[in-house]
Amino acid sequence: MEKRNERQVILFPLPLQGCINPMVQLAKILYSRGFSITIIHTRFNAPKSSDHPLFTFLQIPDGLSESQTQSRDVLLQLTLLNNNCENPFRECLAKLIKPSSDSGTEERKISCLIDDSGWVFTQSVAESFNLPRFVLCAYKFSFFLGHLLVPQIRREGFLPVPDSEAEDLVLAFPPLRKKDLARIMGTSAQSKPLDSYLQKILEATKPTSGLIVMSCEELDQDSLAESKSNKVFSIPIFPIGPFHIHDVPASSSSLLEPDQSCIPWLDKHETRSVIYVSLGSIASLSESDFLEIACGLRNTNQSFLWVVRPGSVHGRDWIESLPSGFMESLEGKGKIVKWAPQLDVLAHRATGGFLTHNGWNSTLESICEGVPMICLPFVWDQFVNARFISEVWRVGIHLEGRIERREIERAVLRLMVESEGEEIRDRIKVLRDEVRRSVKQGGSASRSLDELVDRI
Ligand code: UDP
Repeated sequence: MEKRNERQVILFPLPLQGCINPMVQLAKILYSRGFSITIIHTRFNAPKSSDHPLFTFLQIPDGLSESQTQSRDVLLQLTLLNNNCENPFRECLAKLIKPSSDSGTEERKISCLIDDSGWVFTQSVAESFNLPRFVLCAYKFSFFLGHLLVPQIRREGFLPVPDSEAEDLVLAFPPLRKKDLARIMGTSAQSKPLDSYLQKILEATKPTSGLIVMSCEELDQDSLAESKSNKVFSIPIFPIGPFHIHDVPASSSSLLEPDQSCIPWLDKHETRSVIYVSLGSIASLSESDFLEIACGLRNTNQSFLWVVRPGSVHGRDWIESLPSGFMESLEGKGKIVKWAPQLDVLAHRATGGFLTHNGWNSTLESICEGVPMICLPFVWDQFVNARFISEVWRVGIHLEGRIERREIERAVLRLMVESEGEEIRDRIKVLRDEVRRSVKQGGSASRSLDELVDRI
């Protein structure tokens, strides 16, 4: 296929793996509908343009220092990126829209800008060019609606949560428990910057041309209905389903190189016999938590495939704190890699369960392959996703934050060996089928995509 020039869409992902993947998948969907694609991206965590030869990539400077790119404080990184990128983004957009007269190129027709809700300066920039802007919501929609209420909930005196109320449901933000919300709201030092950032997200989303939601009626019916009735957003909302199951060619947008030896290793295992363990691209562990997970997995005597990102164990380069002889003691039942081809791993017949941090991408990918989960959320929307998995859809087991070898061993055996695991597996297959149907012709997400394409 050739690059096309007719209707052009500009995409601008936040430079985080969990935001780059959906944006690139959305690009592929829109490309398949006849749009030409330009992706503006920061230097930090730049996507690999060579993986996507049909798209045009334009890099802008982001002003992050080496140490800032290494920071574990994502809120700080996002604040700095928003402060630093406005001018470079505006200049880049200006060149795209109005090429200089001496370049001999005519003014281009750009249909719209699509970017993440976490970019809070792009709405005013888009308005200054008269460019319609759509916001990509790569969260579960119930989280997206709920998290914008955090500043208000905080003002109403939510914190501290007494121990006696920790398990109570938060009525304004179901199905979260108060202990989950307390963790989402962060420490008092984080409260001011977080609340002001959320306020900016709300203000910059309200006047847009629409919200593109990586979810579907089947997963987010209540919150989609609520958003229509409470009118927080009077803009159109397009729940177009999990992006990666739309019928477009697969390609990786991994920032780290996936270790392809995972697949031949899985090939050697029985169907549904392996537990896959991955905590995504950001979560990190203390050394003692890392060792508890290692010992818990070993004690199950089940096969496991574990992604340990370099630098994700505090104070260590990789897995050198494992006791000597640990890998040998597994007798081939365990494999640890730095990054996995996750979609292929979850789709593999040998994968029988997923111990996950419940990032929304990972959660959707697991649902779409019918792989039941063990939930170990660390931050942010992961707490909401984990509650849906364990309590609403009942397609997984929640560890309730207990990173202890016995708890991990128990959860893995419940899921992989005991009859409870079979029931959970049956339920996730039903959910998988419903979600997959939504993107097929006539399904809710497919109809929503048609509407989005018309609107753009
Ligand atoms: N991923 C991957 N290989 C890995 C671990 C993760 O390809 O070894 C991908 C995964 O498929 C998902 C993304 O990285 O698309 C992680 O996004 P998610 O929202 O689950 O979590 P985050 O990284 O944002 O915490």
